[in-house]
Amino acid sequence: MARIELRGLAHAYRPNPKTGADYALKPMEHVWEDGGAYALLGPSGCGKTTLLNIISGLLVPSEGQVLFDGRDVTRLPPQERNIAQVFQFPVIYDTMSVFDNLAFPLRNRKVAEKEVRARVEEVADMLELSADLGRRARGLTADQKQKISLGRGLVRSDVAAILFDEPLTVIDPQLKWLLRRKLKQIHERFRLSLIYVTHDQNEALTFAQQVVVMHDGQVMQLGTPQQLFEVPAHTFVGYFIGSPGMNFLPCRFEGGSAVVDDIRIPLAREVLDHAPRHGVPLEIGIRPEHLRVSASQGNGALPAEIASVEDLGNFKIVTAKLGRHRLKAKLDEDAPVPAERGWLTFPPDRTRLYADGRLVA
Ligand code: ATP
Repeated sequence: MARIELRGLAHAYRPNPKTGADYALKPMEHVWEDGGAYALLGPSGCGKTTLLNIISGLLVPSEGQVLFDGRDVTRLPPQERNIAQVFQFPVIYDTMSVFDNLAFPLRNRKVAEKEVRARVEEVADMLELSADLGRRARGLTADQKQKISLGRGLVRSDVAAILFDEPLTVIDPQLKWLLRRKLKQIHERFRLSLIYVTHDQNEALTFAQQVVVMHDGQVMQLGTPQQLFEVPAHTFVGYFIGSPGMNFLPCRFEGGSAVVDDIRIPLAREVLDHAPRHGVPLEIGIRPEHLRVSASQGNGALPAEIASVEDLGNFKIVTAKLGRHRLKAKLDEDAPVPAERGWLTFPPDRTRLYADGRLVA
């Protein structure tokens, strides 16, 4: 497995006559550690596949370098990079048995047959394919075929990295959930370097140790699922991660505190100390999970109108109006919700401040 370094990496599919480059991937510097499970997460068109293809060698970047364990591989074709790839649609040999399909990448590299058997059986066991090893691949369902495809990616332990390009998109939702868990277990057991492209935050957050959130050709934040949730580095991350996403309110500074229209919002001392006072648009951000709603006025609570309550089984989404702004709060299913008017509390340690979209302190 390898440590992957992206040095000044950028890509433009075509030059822009005015700016010189029309970046699908804007210049970036990153080091992805050996044995890490990374998810590339972002909306359609943000550059995930472009980045994955540069790492795999399917695409040569227009700027910068890719290094595997310090070795420059930028211009090496995929077959010389020692990587395994799993695509959105299964790539398997229909006429071969499941066993032979799984063994193929190992036999191709002349691995001893005893080791081939051991490794194939281990991966088949993890993916619950053991009972099918003797069957021809042709008769299998699309889900089973994609399991084999995953297995073929996972069977080699000598690769620099295993790259997955939305491999669970075509999979039945129940099995999708199971395979996410399996991938996580397999990663924990073998410490493989995994890079996994997805636009599905649930997939990224359950599977990856580190999530690379991308938007418009840029990495907006690289962090653990918990960091992305607790301390989004950018308003885009706050909005994109979470369901519903973070609430944002435009604010200004007055008399040492943040003011939304004429409503004062308490912020932590550390945030106040770092807040720019002039020249940039400011926003307060709070997760729906952190906004408190109650029927009685507590310390620092602000009066609000309850606009709607959606009961979603094991939790509720309350939409509250604070002045002219609408905010969402996510409450436990059994939490009491005031009928028409209530009180909102912004816990200062959970309330973030953003200047021009970027986190302040
Ligand atoms: P999706 O999830 O839809 O696959 P993505 O995040 O993987 O999207 P990319 O496919 O990397 O995004 O695309 C990034 C940008 O580059 C987009 O604006 C896309 O239109 C553009 N692009 C991708 N491939 C090419 C190409 N071969 N030629 C020109 N532009 C391209």
